[in-house]
Amino acid sequence: MSDDTNGGTLRAPGTNWAGNLTYGARALHEPTSVARLQDLVARTPRVRALGSRHSFSDVADGEVLVSLEHLPGVVEVDPAARTVRVPAGTRYGALAPVLHDQGWAVHNLASLPHISVAGAVATGTHGSGDRSGTLATAVRGLEVVTADGELVTVGAAQAPASGAEAATHRPDVPLDAVVVGLGAFGIVTAVTLAIEPTYDVAQEVYPDVPWDAVLADLDAVTGSADSVSLFTDWRSPTVAQVWRKSRLDAGWEPRPHLLGVARSAVELHPLAGVDPASTTAQLGVPGPWHERLSHFRMEHTPSHGEELQSEYLLAREHAVDAITALRRLGTDLAEQLLVAEVRTMAADDLWLSGASGRATVGLHMTWRRDVEAVGALLPRVEEALAPFAPRPHWGKLFTATGAGSPAALRAAYPRFDDARDLAARLDPQGRFHNAFLRRHGLVG
Ligand SMILES: Cc1cc2nc3c(=O)[nH]c(=O)nc-3n(C[C@H](O)[C@H](O)[C@H](O)COP(=O)(O)OP(=O)(O)OC[C@H]3O[C@@H](n4cnc5c(N)ncnc54)[C@H](O)[C@@H]3O)c2cc1C
Repeated sequence: MSDDTNGGTLRAPGTNWAGNLTYGARALHEPTSVARLQDLVARTPRVRALGSRHSFSDVADGEVLVSLEHLPGVVEVDPAARTVRVPAGTRYGALAPVLHDQGWAVHNLASLPHISVAGAVATGTHGSGDRSGTLATAVRGLEVVTADGELVTVGAAQAPASGAEAATHRPDVPLDAVVVGLGAFGIVTAVTLAIEPTYDVAQEVYPDVPWDAVLADLDAVTGSADSVSLFTDWRSPTVAQVWRKSRLDAGWEPRPHLLGVARSAVELHPLAGVDPASTTAQLGVPGPWHERLSHFRMEHTPSHGEELQSEYLLAREHAVDAITALRRLGTDLAEQLLVAEVRTMAADDLWLSGASGRATVGLHMTWRRDVEAVGALLPRVEEALAPFAPRPHWGKLFTATGAGSPAALRAAYPRFDDARDLAARLDPQGRFHNAFLRRHGLVG
């Protein structure tokens, strides 16, 4: 570690959270002011933002990385506008209690609160819920350092109460294009999110629910609560666990049975045999939204810890056929699969969101951390899902020849070429380019 002319520290980038990726960047800067970040961007030919390192793919990597964790700024609520201005490096787990203490909430959370707000929305990170959009759908505005080092606002960015650096508004840049931005449009310094009055949630878990009954009316199951997750090994005749998260302000009534299966009387971890101490409270005991909407608690390691992940987002109408296709592959995946999860998302208008333009089902897999063996299985998973135009989760593992090939992505995302053109217009020198964006055809 050494002092940095950008007023922060300079260190070796190290690895991502999962440890499957050692960042290839030669340096990681941690600037301590937006002005210093602007200067760094303006004089660095290739530079990328790094969030909290929770992506499994190399989406964040580049020649030089910048972490925003040390930028000054605090979470600022504007009650009249019902928005909050969040410094980009803030993690949901830090944001949520601040919001709740002031009487506010966001609409949903991912399975873990450990991720940064800017990094999460940049890859289309989502929770679950038929009526709930991805986390990025809460974004109302962004403050962004663009390729020329200018600080600009896009959309309805909330002005900082602290009167920080002046930013130029860019009405020519559509917010919908750049929110799920994969770091390709600039370095986001602050995010304005929509908020709503705080609410309580009750979480109920049902073990061993027969697949036949679930698939007979999947809509009834996923619509039975505000957020529903199905955990499975794809092989068994039952869904190992159905997690239901219900808002009390939406009229929750305890549900002792789901499809004839009794609610669990003990707390469960989604992974069989793992101590549920790291999971959020279950058993139908109501509590604040941020202590129930994620599956995992901030102060614990989320999920398994030693793992890889993949996920494919498909049009909701294909859910039953796609689940059936993966269940047919179940035995072949078994050795590497720790657990799979099925979730739903409402359609949105964000160009590169996995739920862009279509009500969506997400088919997620948590794998053992065997890069080679999982790499050999992904083409088979993608082949099985190919009839359903799957969109790979940008932050998880997928191929560049199947679902992640430029042609497949262009077919799956109606605005793919528009996003590519916009990136070329905003960043003609390719300052924010990296191998990931090139490999998947998002930049030339
Ligand atoms: C245990 C575990 C559980 C997970 N659960 C879920 C889940 O429930 N739902 C889900 O959808 N995903 C989930 N993920 C995936 C994860 O949410 C995404 O990979 C997310 O992008 C990680 O955010 P991050 O802050 O770590 O970003 P990083 O991985 O560090 O970066 C991701 C992208 O964001 C960009 N970025 C970061 N900061 C900025 C910035 N300031 N400006 C511009 N671009 C920026 C980077 O350049 C990169 O392109 C999970 C991951 C793990 C490890």
